Amino acid sequence: MKSPQPDIWKTPLAYLKGVGPRRAEVLETELGLRTYEDLLEYFPRRYLDYGQITPIAQARPEQEAVFRGKLGPFQVRPLAGGRRALLTTTLYDGQAWIELVWYQGWEWVRQKFSPGQQVLAIGRPLYKKRILQIAHPDLVLLTDSKVPEQFLRIYPVYPLSEKLRQAGLDNKRLHMLFEELYRITRFEREDPIPAPIREAYQLMPLSEALRALHLPTSIEEADQARYRFKFQEFFLLQVLLIRRKYFLKTQYTAPSFTQVGSLLNEFYEKYLPFALTEAQKRVIKEIRRDMALSTPMNRLIQGDVGSGKTIVALFAALIAIGNGYQVALMAPTEVLAEQHARSFRKWLAPLGIGVGLLLGSTPPAQRKRILEKLATGELACIIGTHALFQKNVQYHRLGLTIIDEQHKFGVKQRAALWEKAHPYRPHNLLLTATPIPRTLALSVYGDVDVSIIDELPPGRQPVKTYIRTEAQRREVWNLLRAELQKGHQAYVIYPLVEESEKTDLKAVEEGYELIQRTFSEYPVGMIHGRMNSERKEREMHLFKSGHTRILVGTTVVEVGVDVPNATVLIVEHADRFGLSQLHQLRGRVGRGGYPSYAIFIAPNNLSETALTRFQALAQYHDGFHIAEIDLKLRGPGDFLGTKQSGLPEFKIADIVEDQAILRQARQAAENLVSQDPSLALYPTLRTHLSEYVERHSLELFTA
Ligand code: ADP
Ligand code: MG
Repeated sequence: MKSPQPDIWKTPLAYLKGVGPRRAEVLETELGLRTYEDLLEYFPRRYLDYGQITPIAQARPEQEAVFRGKLGPFQVRPLAGGRRALLTTTLYDGQAWIELVWYQGWEWVRQKFSPGQQVLAIGRPLYKKRILQIAHPDLVLLTDSKVPEQFLRIYPVYPLSEKLRQAGLDNKRLHMLFEELYRITRFEREDPIPAPIREAYQLMPLSEALRALHLPTSIEEADQARYRFKFQEFFLLQVLLIRRKYFLKTQYTAPSFTQVGSLLNEFYEKYLPFALTEAQKRVIKEIRRDMALSTPMNRLIQGDVGSGKTIVALFAALIAIGNGYQVALMAPTEVLAEQHARSFRKWLAPLGIGVGLLLGSTPPAQRKRILEKLATGELACIIGTHALFQKNVQYHRLGLTIIDEQHKFGVKQRAALWEKAHPYRPHNLLLTATPIPRTLALSVYGDVDVSIIDELPPGRQPVKTYIRTEAQRREVWNLLRAELQKGHQAYVIYPLVEESEKTDLKAVEEGYELIQRTFSEYPVGMIHGRMNSERKEREMHLFKSGHTRILVGTTVVEVGVDVPNATVLIVEHADRFGLSQLHQLRGRVGRGGYPSYAIFIAPNNLSETALTRFQALAQYHDGFHIAEIDLKLRGPGDFLGTKQSGLPEFKIADIVEDQAILRQARQAAENLVSQDPSLALYPTLRTHLSEYVERHSLELFTA
């Protein structure tokens, strides 16, 4: 199908009959709509049915509805101080009345309507000086109390601002514009969804769907159109992600490790310090399978804090080293890198494998030695921070990269490490302790394979979780003191939304002073994002070594930090954190087999809903379950945070509500890419995809 004129869709809106230069300008500034095409893609928020009349007595503020009644007398009232005047009248349905008001541009109302006429008034009632009124309602004159034929039975409601309404761009005007646009174009557009997929999933063709969306003849039809566009939104993103994954696998080769090697077996038989959980075994198997292939592994391991991701990473490392390749493990901070180095050295020492540690702070002479050994291949395992991918670092045969807390690194940084294996690609293992519900993961991590460790090692006692208010402060301090007296350590965490927020910073500093005074017999440390990294590292060391007993800080206390002696976590202003974040913070205690406590301090006047939210934390200890609840409560935008996700905003689809559609779209995309990875058969889809990437400035996960 070809458009009647190839470029008609790029026509500026000013040329559309009923728009004109002034309204075109408002459409652009208010909604960012410039062309016919833009207007076409401006979707209704919902639909009203002319047949469904709301009695005026049941009018509710903010709820757009259709009312029927008799117009009262018109009154022109001057606006205070100005030359402008407003027009008011009433609508009466025999039981109740509501005020109708126009602030400007109301001449036509007086010309077309007169008091006593039966009309439909469509709009959103609001209280003004305690009187319920509808500003700028859409009016439809009834003849014989019936809706005239030329009006649609279904009334699409667009999201409109007051500015638009003032420029005469109300819903009725938009309907007229769409009718005009339909008259000249028939909404003919090339469909990005391939016909076989449309058939398989019973999706309306694009042009028909656009018509049903903007000019519906029934609610059912409009719903079908909405379904199609939801599918389309998911489908486009999924095709992008799946193609990425496909090309990553086919364009690069990685060394294939068909044998796990003798090292792994020796470690497993002689030195494994504990029995692996079933989840760990399953994930190790998945990794083994990936690494046996000559296409690079790109596997993300999601596992709750304390689920034992490190030992799983070690098994991957043993496979690579056992096959004569090198391993680089990168962590976002020096403290974490050192912690990993300690674990790896302990595990690898009996096998006679040395572990290097490369940090920003590594002294030059030592750095030089490490770099030499890396380049010659003498060093098989290197652990470090950003230092690992700097220009002067050369690897002999890098076969595996492991990236801990992968979201702390940018796409380019991860890629910089992978490129060190030139001309082939290493296998890549990504670790994260941020659980993301499965369906969300399909979009956020759609271009990597995901493994989930959904089981904690046995014998873990759940962290006892309490919600307390300021009024119960003494009780909180008593618990803290009792634990300190047993020789344990504690974290006290303050919110810090932006690292630059002064008031938050002050709260941390004041909290630090308060705790120093209250617990003057114990050394207290402080850590926050405004400190330079050396200072932060030093504070973490003091705490890890047991020198400081209480650490007061913000969430910069790293996720993975393992201080088994810490048994108390106190979170101040807990109402300012998301559930998942609180759960992660909680994972900082309960790591040493001692009974541990998380105390979330909330304001005295905590609302019922906020309380329910917190109770989920006291009740559940599974990060995935909590993430699901969090996602439902906050919606995907807040749940993921703006920076982290790289996920485009969906215009019509809802990633939580429309999970079933997402799964179908994913499946359709998988089938399509496996049959025609270059999309040679579907040029329209290809063009759409490149526009999509541009429009959303997508940074793909593994780019
Ligand atoms: P995370 O997934 O948060 O990175 P770690 O890998 O640091 O968790 O593991 C947390 C602790 O649990 C470590 O002390 C680790 O040695 C221990 N651990 C891991 N797996 C098991 C297991 N299967 N049985 C007992 N302890 C385990
Ligand atoms: Mg960890």
